[in-house]
Amino acid sequence: MEFSAFGQKFTRHAGITQLMDDLNQGLTTPNTIMLGGGNPAAIPEVLAYLDQQSRQLVKNGDLLKAMANYDGPQGKDAYICALAKLLSKELGWPVGPEHIALTNGSQTAFFYLFNLLAGDFGDGRKKKVLFPLAPEYIGYGDGALSEDHFKACKPTITRLENGLFKYHVDFDRLEVGDDIGLICVSRPTNPTGNVLTDEEIMRLDEIAREKGIPLLIDNAYGMPFPNIIFTDAKPFWNDNTILCMSLSKLGLPGVRCGIVVAPPAIIQAMTNISGIINLAPGSMGPALTLPMMENGDVITLSNEVIRPFYQAKAQQAVTWLQQAIPLPQFHIHKPEGALFLWLWFEDLPVHSQELYERLKQKGLLVVPGHYFFPGIEDGDWAHSKQCIRLNYAQSEADVQAGIKILAEEVLAIYQAP
Ligand code: PLP
Repeated sequence: MEFSAFGQKFTRHAGITQLMDDLNQGLTTPNTIMLGGGNPAAIPEVLAYLDQQSRQLVKNGDLLKAMANYDGPQGKDAYICALAKLLSKELGWPVGPEHIALTNGSQTAFFYLFNLLAGDFGDGRKKKVLFPLAPEYIGYGDGALSEDHFKACKPTITRLENGLFKYHVDFDRLEVGDDIGLICVSRPTNPTGNVLTDEEIMRLDEIAREKGIPLLIDNAYGMPFPNIIFTDAKPFWNDNTILCMSLSKLGLPGVRCGIVVAPPAIIQAMTNISGIINLAPGSMGPALTLPMMENGDVITLSNEVIRPFYQAKAQQAVTWLQQAIPLPQFHIHKPEGALFLWLWFEDLPVHSQELYERLKQKGLLVVPGHYFFPGIEDGDWAHSKQCIRLNYAQSEADVQAGIKILAEEVLAIYQAP
């Protein structure tokens, strides 16, 4: 069978596909230690709350109503209004229903936005999406209709105390030409757990405004929910920002609900695309979480349960890792948020793909770091082949067992003659 150019592009075995395959394999193969994917942790209090909410939904008939009806292409009206009120109240943003659209997960939103604001403009002009700091989220890399859609900049690396380091945007080398249609960052960042500072975000906002292009901030882990963020960085939105949020890291990846907060012209465009591609976004996530958006439980759960849970786990995993791998070449990105630790093995004698494969053989799944550099043109950049991402949010037993396998393998690799 012959596939079109679209077919050829989207049937490739992309990094994100490998990640989702591994996640599935982890779920279906007993004894695999799954520290690879981005599945949120099963937090008992969160699950109990959601369980009680879903029972309530069945009882009062709202589940059936949600399943038996299409919402509009922008998403469930009552939900959008509740979100607008919540964001205005919690963060003081002048957000109304005209600023919000729902999608079937953020991943769908990125696909719409990357192709809406970059690509072929039909008059000979082509624009790209700029990631001002790579490593950046693996899921962005293949979400474009055209080839050569992304451009990324290497960061500066600041070495901190205690074997930690932190990436910063290298503003001296950041070039934003007329070929850029959108600037995109995840904050907190997947895979590194980095949180761009308020100053960095303000400078990116200034650059975006000067160029007349939007700044997309992927807030999948940020404030006000799920609030998996351990620094006091301020949430950011204005009339030139596209903020993408999601119910996934709140504990509901299966409902596939993404939330876009953006200027009305972008929301109108997203709504029109949504009508063509989906008719309407799914109704289950909005139906299930409408009460918690209206009564503010989502904020309490995020602040009092979700954030402390992840913060404690991150600190614990850092301690275990540093005890298990006492090498001067081993560095961990300062964990400032999200579900991951980003491990840098400086001068690693093998490629991160090989390390990944060796670990997989031993029953440990992680994600090799080289996938997280979409748009970086320097294929020889050693740093991009020396890192892996580890999901620290799984059970203590799994994290400890995974660290043991990792430490044995890494020590053997460095010590090999
Ligand atoms: N953005 C980031 C930075 C992520 O890490 C993830 C998932 O891992 C997503 C977005 C995906 O969100 P969704 O499940 O809403 O598609």
